[in-house]
Amino acid sequence: MVDAHRLWKGPILDNHFHLNRKGRFLDAAKDFKNAGGTHLALIHCPDFSSPPTTLASHREAYADTVAIAEKVRAVHDVHVRVVLGPHPAAFAHQIINWMESDGEKGIERACENYRDSIDAALDFIKEGQAHAIGEVGRPHWKVSEEVWDLSNSLLEETMTLAAREGIPLQLHVEGELESTYSDLSAMAARANLPTRRLIRHYSPPQIDESVTRGLTSSVLVGKGALEPLLASYEQNQTGFMLETDYMDDPRRPGAVLGPKTVPKRTQQLIEAGMDEEVLWKCHVDVPNALYGEPE
Ligand SMILES: [Zn+2]
Repeated sequence: MVDAHRLWKGPILDNHFHLNRKGRFLDAAKDFKNAGGTHLALIHCPDFSSPPTTLASHREAYADTVAIAEKVRAVHDVHVRVVLGPHPAAFAHQIINWMESDGEKGIERACENYRDSIDAALDFIKEGQAHAIGEVGRPHWKVSEEVWDLSNSLLEETMTLAAREGIPLQLHVEGELESTYSDLSAMAARANLPTRRLIRHYSPPQIDESVTRGLTSSVLVGKGALEPLLASYEQNQTGFMLETDYMDDPRRPGAVLGPKTVPKRTQQLIEAGMDEEVLWKCHVDVPNALYGEPE
């Protein structure tokens, strides 16, 4: 039953948000805040046209995302966690291009570049300037078997590193429901990584534990997401978060969910009867356990 009198006054986190200096930038963060948002996970936005190819240029690109986070904290007093890593789409295109031009050598070079990108992200985490590696994963479109296998083996390598370093990963993967979750949980087991430290970005809203297999779901809160989320959250034990995947892309305004969406959906969830305790877990306990206390 909908109860319009129930209001959520607690913290509100959007777990997957990009900002672009050429986009709406600080105004987008302001919209989030004015709608009731308090915490952002700011995900590094890659330069898809020419992704970095050296360790120094990976560091430079990440340093800009760290600087953007600092700016949002200073100007809007919003808590910001930073997530850095090689975007799987940018990376897969790089493998394909370098493989075509240089064969085996090109593949080797692409793998080295991926590892440099992960190492640079890890340095920022160790310095306390970033809180997770992401978005990493594998292509969400059909690629050759060779590229698919390579993407999987690099992802598993990154899971092993996450296990060793005690950090979470934000994953960008293909969109299947059950097969994707079960495949990723098997990879985590091989890497000795607790599955909850795998955060599935752009997660479908059905989050029964029998489907999510111990992974943490970051549910994309599009219009149709509330009903399946409300129908399944009581069968989820690991925990979930909410996100927009706001892109802040000036060429595609309105192509994705806007910056006010998570605060709006949070109020709709409480009106629809979701327990306060569940929302507290979603916006506070789950992110704190994964990323540490917010800045
Ligand atoms: Zn993203």
